Amino acid sequence: MKVEQILEYQKLDREMFKLEKELRDNPNKAKANKLHETMKTAQERSVKLEERAGAILTEIDKVKSQLKIQQDKMAEFAAKDLTAMTKQDVEKMSALKDKLYQNLQILEKNLTALAENVNAVLADFNKTIKTFNASKEEFAKCKSDYDNDVKAIEGKKSEVAAKLQVIAKDIDSQIMEAYQKRRKENIFPVVVPLMEEGKGSYFCGGCRTQLSFASINKLDSENVVACDHCRRLIYKK
Ligand SMILES: [Zn+2]
Repeated sequence: MKVEQILEYQKLDREMFKLEKELRDNPNKAKANKLHETMKTAQERSVKLEERAGAILTEIDKVKSQLKIQQDKMAEFAAKDLTAMTKQDVEKMSALKDKLYQNLQILEKNLTALAENVNAVLADFNKTIKTFNASKEEFAKCKSDYDNDVKAIEGKKSEVAAKLQVIAKDIDSQIMEAYQKRRKENIFPVVVPLMEEGKGSYFCGGCRTQLSFASINKLDSENVVACDHCRRLIYKK
């Protein structure tokens, strides 16, 4: 087998590598993923806000019923005939009435605060839903653009794959296997030349690590030798 064949294969495979990278780094894919994340966050937030609004509404009901009790008591006092009471009883009644009035004031204040809270939560909820809907719409567009990109790139990939298959037929199966193994790990280029720097110093053309004598000797009898450091297949020019 000649090294030229695997080099020819690699030359064409570079196109495949580029197409794969294009697919991985697709901007529509990244955007769609981000939008999907926004949708998820908005949905989780809306559920939490709904729960919070529910809790506040329950609290409002509780305060309202407490308020009703105090108001009824106040009405009861107002209906009483004070002329029929002793002075002491009237004073006692008056003190109780003041206390009731204070309670009423506090409850009303609580109610106002709770109403403000629930309004804030509902406003936040509406905003969150708006964000969700806008993201959903944009996501659908990005997803469709991405699907179109995938279709186009996959088409090109099939063309290159067919050509690669033809070339691969003439290549030694062991080398091809070693090549594909590295290629799957996203190592590219897989096959690199042996570099000589100064006299007798040989380096890997991929990572520039110096080769051992054993590896250099192996290159005299074999087409390629694997770099100990980056595992690329080194050939002698
Ligand atoms: Zn190397």
